[in-house]
Amino acid sequence: MKRKVHGPVSVKWRIFGSFALFTGVILLLLWVFQVVFLDAFYKAIKVNEIKASSYEICGNINFASLQDELQRIAIDNQICSIVCDGEGNRLYSENALPNCVIHRLSSWELAMVYTVTAQNGGSYFERFPQQIRPQITIFGDDVAIREEDPSEIMIFAQIVTRSDGKQLMVLMNSVISPVGATVETLRYQLLTVSLIMVVMGLSLAFILSRKIGRPVSLLNAAAKSLAEGNYDVRFDGGGYREISELSDTLNYAAQELSKTEKLQRDLVANISHDLRTPLTLITGYAEVMRDLPDENTPENIQIIIDEATRLSTLVNDVLDLSKLQAGVVSLEKRVYNLTASVRGILTRYSKMTDYHIVFYASEDVYICADELKISQVVYNLVNNAMTYTGNDKSVILRQRVEEGKVRISVSDTGEGIPQDKLNDIWERYYKVDKAHKRAQVGTGLGLAIVKMILDLHGGAYGVQSREGIGSTFWFEMDAVASPTEKEKSLPEASLS
Ligand code: ADP
Repeated sequence: MKRKVHGPVSVKWRIFGSFALFTGVILLLLWVFQVVFLDAFYKAIKVNEIKASSYEICGNINFASLQDELQRIAIDNQICSIVCDGEGNRLYSENALPNCVIHRLSSWELAMVYTVTAQNGGSYFERFPQQIRPQITIFGDDVAIREEDPSEIMIFAQIVTRSDGKQLMVLMNSVISPVGATVETLRYQLLTVSLIMVVMGLSLAFILSRKIGRPVSLLNAAAKSLAEGNYDVRFDGGGYREISELSDTLNYAAQELSKTEKLQRDLVANISHDLRTPLTLITGYAEVMRDLPDENTPENIQIIIDEATRLSTLVNDVLDLSKLQAGVVSLEKRVYNLTASVRGILTRYSKMTDYHIVFYASEDVYICADELKISQVVYNLVNNAMTYTGNDKSVILRQRVEEGKVRISVSDTGEGIPQDKLNDIWERYYKVDKAHKRAQVGTGLGLAIVKMILDLHGGAYGVQSREGIGSTFWFEMDAVASPTEKEKSLPEASLS
């Protein structure tokens, strides 16, 4: 077979690629968030912090604990605050930063900030670099020191009305320190982490892809060997559930394929043997009778008839079985009296006076099944029992009804079947003792047909056998109400 080398990417490379991509995406995300957006995130957090603190103070403006609140905010968040009135008189103040801009404002300057905030609709936010401060005019201070300081100053003012109706301004100040140095450190760390992750990620991807890909490649190799007719090949799961299930299925397929092949071989061997024997006999006897008029006896003619009958039985059995196997037979189910049907079958054996056949049935039982097929089951079982029964030539049929099921059993008094053969006898062309004179009578197909028919009906079946005592074959079907009983149970109105 030609090997296909192109086509979809192999599992190994797909896993490797996905893992490498995953590592790449994680690294990229880390770089973007830790390096590129760090400054923006930090500033947004700081802005939110000062605004949230201011809202908190406004909410507590009527409480005596206000000073404590201001102190807590100063310690926790490094935010300075002043609460003053419209004239710039400080009521509360908390200083957390060296060189805090708002604490250097005079009352007049505070009053100016109050006016700007009021004009701005009650709140005012401003962010500016420490060195170029508009307060050169407002705050007027030492410019030289601040020019060296790259920090940003943030002030937030809010006007709030106290419960006594007085309007106050909450003014807060915090500093945004530059993140440049932090980013530098992070960049260096990330570079190291990235290198380690790339090496680890690629090695892991390589190991994983090999580990997962290997059993699939092995399965593939084994399947190719199976396709070439090596039925002894074993599929191994490789430690993964899905692959293990696939291996089991393939092992089962290999087993079934080898069975089928063996069966085909047996079939050809058996059929040719079974056909050859009667044909040789028929030809032989016919030739003798043609050449020697004295041999033209009824006994010899009977032999020819018997052998021809055997041939036609064999051909019919083979045809029946192939039809059942191919699934071309459809069941024609209907409710009928099984007990009466079995009795009917047994009357056909009544001419065979040397056999003692009895049927014990205490009541008539109905089943819903294909009568013709179930009759074939009974025929096959009775024929076998008659063939293999003991010298007393007795065959006993029993009918038993239990829990809505009817069981028909056929017992004989023959040699029985060895326990280890009890499962094999249902196989096609299986004969327990091929050398046995009586076994040569059969085709080895009877029980395979019984099994097929009962499987199609969903009926149970089985055999019990004791060597030297006899065998009992049985099958079970669901009992149904007789048609007359059904009518009786219908309401009167529907009968009329
Ligand atoms: P055959 O046509 O050879 O009887 P079957 O499929 O009906 O084929 O039976 C398969 C084998 O099972 C027989 O060859 C025989 O060895 C064994 N067998 C079947 N029925 C009986 C029985 N009642 N007693 C003993 N052996 C039996």
